[in-house]
This record gives sequence, structure tokens and C-alpha cells, in this order.
Amino acid sequence: MTAQAANPIILLGPPGAGKGTQARLLEEKHGLIQLSTGDLLRAAVKEGSALGREAKTYMEAGKLAPDDLMIRMIADGLQKPEARRGFILDGFPRTVAQAAALDAMLEQKGLSLGHVIVMAVDEEALITRITGRMTCAKCGEGYHDSFKPTAKPGVCDKCGGTSFIRRPDDNAETMKTRLAAYHAQTAPIIPYYEKRGILRRVDGMAGVDAVALQIEKVLGAV
Ligand code: AMP
Repeated sequence: MTAQAANPIILLGPPGAGKGTQARLLEEKHGLIQLSTGDLLRAAVKEGSALGREAKTYMEAGKLAPDDLMIRMIADGLQKPEARRGFILDGFPRTVAQAAALDAMLEQKGLSLGHVIVMAVDEEALITRITGRMTCAKCGEGYHDSFKPTAKPGVCDKCGGTSFIRRPDDNAETMKTRLAAYHAQTAPIIPYYEKRGILRRVDGMAGVDAVALQIEKVLGAV
């Protein structure tokens, strides 16, 4: 990848926009590291760590976890040696305070943001998207009941795993709170980055491959 694209990339958009799916594709294709605060929190909840216990209540309610907790989590992620290859932030920053803290952390490391990619979606469609989604418990591959079913029912195409996970917060009720949090707390970071001329929009309603192609174009990789 080009030097420019090795700078951190942010994928931004409401829950269900497809950030995780695209981050995984970028990770596979370009060897970048996906830093997903949602995934890190879910792992902490599973472990039952103090951090996980603190975050669980917020996650179940569809509310944002406190900024200081999230900022510490990303600071740890950025220390990892693999992150030097370049990384994609998926689910962070979600508030202007997190965005400002990220700038400070990157500056300290002599890094600057590459692109902030906003995945624009039709919010009416998001409920259908999130209520049908699941991931393979073994390899983490993402599926959807209607849009991306497994080829053989109940068997992961990628690793043959037979157990799938559905997120407890992927339900219509919690989704309302998650969307409200997105509008009130996360959307204000769009003008924050727009002013700096690093914001790009892609059509998140297109198919997975078409969205991936748009992102590759933004990154100058095609
Ligand atoms: P996600 O998997 O990105 O949809 O995140 C799931 C949940 O984790 C969110 O609804 C929040 O409760 C919490 N979360 C993830 N990332 C952040 C963040 N950057 N700031 C605050 N809360 C977060």
C-alpha cells in the first residue's frame, strides 16, 4: 500500500452501516490492523474483566461507554507493534472528545489521519440489516439471514464452524437508542473532519463488493 494509505483510516457511520465488514476486508487485503472498539468491548465482557463489567451496562442499553474508558482502550491498541503497519478504526472515535484525544495520540506518534470514510446509509434499512446479522463463533466471519446466508445451513463457509453469535444489542428496541446516540454524539465529528478536508463519503447501501471498491478508490489503491 502507498505511504499515504498506511496512515490510519477511520470508518464512520451508524450501527449497521457495514463498518466491521469493510474493516475486515481491508485487513485481509492490505494487512492493516482493524481496531474495533465494539469487538474489544465484547471480548472484555466475555472475559468478565473490570472493563467489561463497566462497559456491559452501556452496551446493553445501546448507549455510548464513557470517553475516558474508550480512549484508554485505543491508546493500548496503538501500542501494539502490528499497528505500525497501519490500522483501521471501526467504531472509534464516536464523540468529538474521542476525536480530539485521537489527534493528540497520533501526533505523539508522528502520525496523521489518512482518510475518514463516512458510510452513508438509509436508516430505514438498518433495522433489517442488524436484526438478521450473525458471526461465526469460531472465525468471526459475518453472515446475514437474508443478505448473506451460509451456503450450507448452519455451517460457516469459511471454517466449517457450526456455532453462530447474535449480538444482544442487535434488536429493534436497542437500535433506536444506538441511532439516537449516533445522531447526538457521533455525527458532530463529521464537520470536525470535513473542515480538515479528509472526509470522504461512500454509498453504504451498495453491495459489499461495490462498497469495498469505492473505499479502495478513496484510498488510491485501485
Ligand atoms: P459497535 O460494535 O461498534 O456497534 O459497538 C457496540 C457498543 O459498544 C456501542 O453501542 C457502545 O455501547 C460501545 N462502544 C463501542 N465503541 C465505542 C466508542 N468509541 N465510544 C463509546 N462507546 C462505544
